[in-house]
Amino acid sequence: MPSTSVPLDRDGFHAGYINVPASMNHSAWSNQRVPLFSIKNGEGPCCLLLGGSHGDEYEGPIALSHLVHGGLQPEDIQGQVIVLPALNTPAVQAGARLSPLDGGNMNRAFPGNPRGTITERIADFVTRELIPRCDVVVDLHSGGRSLNFIPCAFVPVQKTDAATQEIMKLANAFDAPLTVIIREPSAAEMIDTEVEQQDKRILATELGGSALASATTVAITHHGLRGVLHAMGIIAENPVWTGPEASQSDRQTLLVDGLQHYTYADETGIYECSHELGAYVEKGQQIGYLHFADRVERPPLPVTANTSGVLFCTAGQGLVQRGDALAVVGHVET
Ligand SMILES: [Zn+2]
Repeated sequence: MPSTSVPLDRDGFHAGYINVPASMNHSAWSNQRVPLFSIKNGEGPCCLLLGGSHGDEYEGPIALSHLVHGGLQPEDIQGQVIVLPALNTPAVQAGARLSPLDGGNMNRAFPGNPRGTITERIADFVTRELIPRCDVVVDLHSGGRSLNFIPCAFVPVQKTDAATQEIMKLANAFDAPLTVIIREPSAAEMIDTEVEQQDKRILATELGGSALASATTVAITHHGLRGVLHAMGIIAENPVWTGPEASQSDRQTLLVDGLQHYTYADETGIYECSHELGAYVEKGQQIGYLHFADRVERPPLPVTANTSGVLFCTAGQGLVQRGDALAVVGHVET
């Protein structure tokens, strides 16, 4: 069963690992080490910050690395901040969405299993030991290799309006260019559902994509984390935007509540997205093409939007497979 020597109940700055037994072909008694930081000062709210749930999404690990290596000291806070910059450590080490050790998708592994795969054991530790301690979880995702997003905060729709509104306040504090209110198609296996079942709040993000991080997306993440910690009363200072100038312009809220928002590839090919992210598109409008560069008889295949709204996510790489998501269009909330 996973365990840690990090004293989560003690004040101060503590760094260590979750040790996850991982008996492998190459090593009978090895442990997978998942980095864990606790910064605590007295009583107060507790925030759990997660990066690297998927190993090819980089804003989370980068911003959290800054936060724990000099960015946040116990005297700066009231309460507790628990940080896991590389939640699915084997996936982060491989720069891959899924764990190369067991094929595990961390955000489809909740609530986890103490006797399961390595991915399931890490999820189980988060479920049993970390979520119960905290009031708010911030789960930092990006588009990874296969998707590309306008940097946004995700507000998962909760069972009660009051709970959803509490998360909306956290999203406003995160202050990303876009907020997306979402009903997740795979919610049952995601950390979102476990956090809701423990009556805590979760704010997720999608901060960029194509397996890259930019100066702007990292600045948005850094600014957003401090905004949430301030809104929770953990840090006193309201953060001031210090990133590139142009990136803090219009704020917008979109709703994504069903599969009609998604356009999928019907065939394998090269995807050309013919609009920039942020464009308003109409239902049925052509938004891109699939190209079949290896076939002399195939002209480009038009790809259309399934609903009207703002194009806020596209395929993150040119070559796509049949069934891949090509575009996500959100309804504008007024
Ligand atoms: Zn992700």
